[in-house]
Amino acid sequence: MAIEVKDLTKYYGVQHALDGISFSINKGEIVGFLGPNGAGKSTTMKILTGYLAPTSGVAAVEGINVSEDPQRVKRQTGYLPEHNPLYHDMYVHEYLEFAAGICGLASGMARKRADEMVGLCGLSLEQNKKIGALSKGYRQRVGLAQALIHNPKVLILDEPTSGLDPNQLVEIRKLIKDISREKTVLFSTHILQEVEALCDRVIVINRGAIVADDLLHKLRLGKGGALLVEFGQPVSAEELQTLPGVERVESAGVNRYRIHAAPGQDIRGELTKFAARENKALLELRQEENSLEAIFSRLTQVPLTEPAS
Ligand code: ADP
Repeated sequence: MAIEVKDLTKYYGVQHALDGISFSINKGEIVGFLGPNGAGKSTTMKILTGYLAPTSGVAAVEGINVSEDPQRVKRQTGYLPEHNPLYHDMYVHEYLEFAAGICGLASGMARKRADEMVGLCGLSLEQNKKIGALSKGYRQRVGLAQALIHNPKVLILDEPTSGLDPNQLVEIRKLIKDISREKTVLFSTHILQEVEALCDRVIVINRGAIVADDLLHKLRLGKGGALLVEFGQPVSAEELQTLPGVERVESAGVNRYRIHAAPGQDIRGELTKFAARENKALLELRQEENSLEAIFSRLTQVPLTEPAS
């Protein structure tokens, strides 16, 4: 297991930030950590990277308990903190060599790794510029290069694309996707489309508690989705409404209906029997996917104001 979190609790004074959360991430997975602001994403990541002690519970990276051996965990982990703190007066290459030195690499090796990271993160033209002179997108690249400099097995990225313009966003996502081929990656975001662009699995946190941990496509098919049904001939919506387990019927086009089942009811059998009984052709019977927005809103119970990006 690359990351293991068990019953993790965090209080900041009286402020309750994490409420006994548990999850685990396999080696090689790329997992989106989704939740509204203040949900506890950064707190979890700071604990996982050894920058913050939990109040109780266990966080482990590559089998190493973070509280017991934070230095060893830091050797295995690359971390891009929220707001990407960098030394703006340093030059890009100089900074990466410096970061490599902090990770314990000897100077020749530090220079070599800095060269490699400049190549990997697309910083060749920027490497002799001051970090303060770079655009936000290039600063994120430097942040990623810094996180990768010691070739860690696990990457923890806290809102790696926040504040980027649409072009920068696409580039950084691509970079993360490329990097994730060889690493385990946990990245936080409050942008739903980000999760879709980067990964299959998502962990959703709300008010310090995990409210979902599943593959994205399973979440989409989960609770709340309706059945889309198309018949070959006209049928009566009123009759559909009377079938056992049917909660609500909406028209969805010519001879097409969106049918909502009562909670916990599987109405596919009833619909098939209805079509046979009425001698109507059943052209389509399909579970409609939930939109990401609907999933997020239901799980976190906050109205969505986030624009699509
Ligand atoms: P997220 O990263 O999901 O936005 P955070 O982990 O930053 O959430 O915050 C979780 C909760 O803990 C929030 O209520 C936040 O206000 C609180 N919190 C975070 N850092 C501190 C701190 N240093 N002192 C007090 N409360 C904090």
